Amino acid sequence: MLNSKPLDDNYMHKGLRAQLVELLRNKGIKNENVLKAINAIPRHFFLDTAFERIAYEDKAFPILADQTISQPYTVAFQSELLEVKKFDKILEIGTGSAYQSCVLAEMGAQVFSIERQRALYEHVNKFFFIKKYATLKRFYGDGYEGLPSYAPFDKIIVTAAAPFIPPKLIEQLKPGGYMVIPFGAETGQKMLKITKEIDQKIVTETLGDCDFVPMLGGKNQSVV
Ligand code: SAH
Repeated sequence: MLNSKPLDDNYMHKGLRAQLVELLRNKGIKNENVLKAINAIPRHFFLDTAFERIAYEDKAFPILADQTISQPYTVAFQSELLEVKKFDKILEIGTGSAYQSCVLAEMGAQVFSIERQRALYEHVNKFFFIKKYATLKRFYGDGYEGLPSYAPFDKIIVTAAAPFIPPKLIEQLKPGGYMVIPFGAETGQKMLKITKEIDQKIVTETLGDCDFVPMLGGKNQSVV
């Protein structure tokens, strides 16, 4: 699981990472800042050491509490849709392993990330690598509530499939801002980009199929 002490990031890892970046480019990711961030972040740090050699495959893998670290293509696709600019204030729902949070922080965003699984939230507290990002703030809570005291946000990214669009997240979006959110039940999920226009009008675009763990309500307090 996530380590409290620094790990080795050697030529093998760097080589595998460069290959992953090429694969993402071939799959259609164009934003160079996204690709640079993925190239800079050792994904194997976020996984159990048993996954060290396969950490750079374009696959989701299990983490604690029956959750997953998203597939690199998905992380890249959502990050590209967010059109991240330096100093953007971004709310993320579903910290999980914090890999996506670190990708956004590496791109210069101020990241506010919420996780509802206490075990995962506390696990990430001990993870050495996240200390690299002073602009990443994490919270244990229910993402359906957002973070009213830090709102409004330039952008919101949801990394679990929502059965409905959480109204409080729309409220906490800046006019001119947008939210990238996987929408749907276990199968047939769609990636949506929801824009709150300057006049508060809401515009929804559908951007292809996806496959996420469900966005659940409330907090889970169990510690593993
Ligand atoms: N972004 C993560 C992906 C994690 S999977 C990564 O890069 O590793 C989705 C995560 O969303 C899980 O950790 C799950 O516990 C969390 N989640 C689900 N519903 C939530 C909610 N209502 N509020 C906050 N987190 C939630």
